[in-house]
Amino acid sequence: MSESPLHVLVIGAGTGGMALAHALHKNKVSVAVYERDRTRADFLQGHRVGINPEGTRALRACLPDELFELFLATCASPMERGNLYTERLGEVLSLEFPLDRDALNSEKSVSRVTLKQVLRSDADDFLHFGKYCTHYEHTPDGRVVAHFEDGTSAIGDVLVAADGTRSRVRQQYLPHAALDDAEMVAVAGKVPLDDRVRDLLPPHMTRGMSIILAPGGRFFISHTMEFPWGDDLRLKNGIGSRDAELISAWPGLQFDNTRDHMIWGLAVPPHLAPDGLAEAEGAQIIEMARRMSPGWSPALHRLIEMSDPSTCGASTRQSTSVPVEAWETTNVTLLGDAIHTMTPGRGVGANTALKDAQLLAHQLVGAHRGERPLLEAIHDYETQMIDYGFTAVTESLKFYGKDNPLNRPVLGRAALTLVRGGARLINNVPPLKRGVTNRLLASRGAHTPDERPARTT
Ligand SMILES: Cc1cc2nc3c(=O)[nH]c(=O)nc-3n(C[C@H](O)[C@H](O)[C@H](O)COP(=O)(O)OP(=O)(O)OC[C@H]3O[C@@H](n4cnc5c(N)ncnc54)[C@H](O)[C@@H]3O)c2cc1C
Repeated sequence: MSESPLHVLVIGAGTGGMALAHALHKNKVSVAVYERDRTRADFLQGHRVGINPEGTRALRACLPDELFELFLATCASPMERGNLYTERLGEVLSLEFPLDRDALNSEKSVSRVTLKQVLRSDADDFLHFGKYCTHYEHTPDGRVVAHFEDGTSAIGDVLVAADGTRSRVRQQYLPHAALDDAEMVAVAGKVPLDDRVRDLLPPHMTRGMSIILAPGGRFFISHTMEFPWGDDLRLKNGIGSRDAELISAWPGLQFDNTRDHMIWGLAVPPHLAPDGLAEAEGAQIIEMARRMSPGWSPALHRLIEMSDPSTCGASTRQSTSVPVEAWETTNVTLLGDAIHTMTPGRGVGANTALKDAQLLAHQLVGAHRGERPLLEAIHDYETQMIDYGFTAVTESLKFYGKDNPLNRPVLGRAALTLVRGGARLINNVPPLKRGVTNRLLASRGAHTPDERPARTT
């Protein structure tokens, strides 16, 4: 039995909801998570998620030590390079990232499936599957009741909507908080990372992330995902760490996405998408991806053709939240995509959900300990979250989506020429290149050696 006077209901066992729940549980705040998936292994498709230093530090703060170690042990190898190419695979810019040995200060690549599996571990005490939340209501004494599709309900002192972009709780609580169409249509696939791929592509491209900004607002991205284990599931190089023990005890390896691969995505404004894309599958998507990239390098088309059809998917509606003004605080609150869905432009959706989880947990733990009134704690969280969350939404849309200047019909061409010219200049002037690399890392939350705080963990 918990001694907590506060009982928190979390709707959704995704990135943000599970980080919050672990943080509350480890601080002895009573929590229950309700997830619509029927089992821990439902919905195993997924893309790569980049967890930046800020996101890693949030995970460190939220997770029990053992689970955080498991997260680190199951990440792909660090990204060595960030590249910008033309659609003919001419190098425009290639930044080399320092391989920071401080786990809290480096960029991580993790499969979304893996992250989900890790976060859903060690949670049997508080995680409930098969619970699709339909609505909530308040009791006369101000507590909150969540109702589920199976006819059951749960009562708590706080309800946290962590139920993603199409949040049912948000639709009831903040019906004016709308989603807008980001006006990008995307296809994606995965290719086993082997010598065929390494021989096909420029060497820098198989050592990290590569972006192609091409005429018409076309956007291509690829990531290499190399894991610490081989096909036999044994560590390639694990002497001197606990990783082998952690990984061998971890059930997540039986799932997809845990073998070395290259993941690619191609996005275009809707008027450039082939008819029938929404219904396309497998080999049809590969064929359509070729049509969405006319005149591109044959090596890129070959890469797309080498994709495993079963990993290919299309997304014909990508949403972005319309920022809303602050609302009156109650004991219902929201985090992550449920309140600030953003395009993948800046690669910070999950990182922002983790930041929310860390901050909200801190506030709720304070309220639980009697350090401050509950509504004041939630209000402080919401004030900060609304500010940084919607800033991230706006910034992401400028880089990917309808607010991207490169997507404009005529001006877009001129803007692309300017971007490429500036990037080529940076590529050829080493001090400029170092400056850009450092600014990029700092914007993702990395500390330079002088700024690094003493480790307190
Ligand atoms: C292609 C792509 C690439 C991305 N890359 C990155 C990246 O590199 N870096 C980054 O930071 N972010 C990235 N993101 C964004 C990131 O994946 C999301 O922002 C993040 O997962 C949001 O976490 P969340 O906890 O808010 O929601 P989710 O992780 O979506 O979790 C929501 C959970 O709620 C459950 N749920 C939904 N409705 C209900 C209901 N009614 N009742 C009960 N349960 C419910 C769902 O099943 C799910 O488990 C990317 C997104 C995409 C699409």
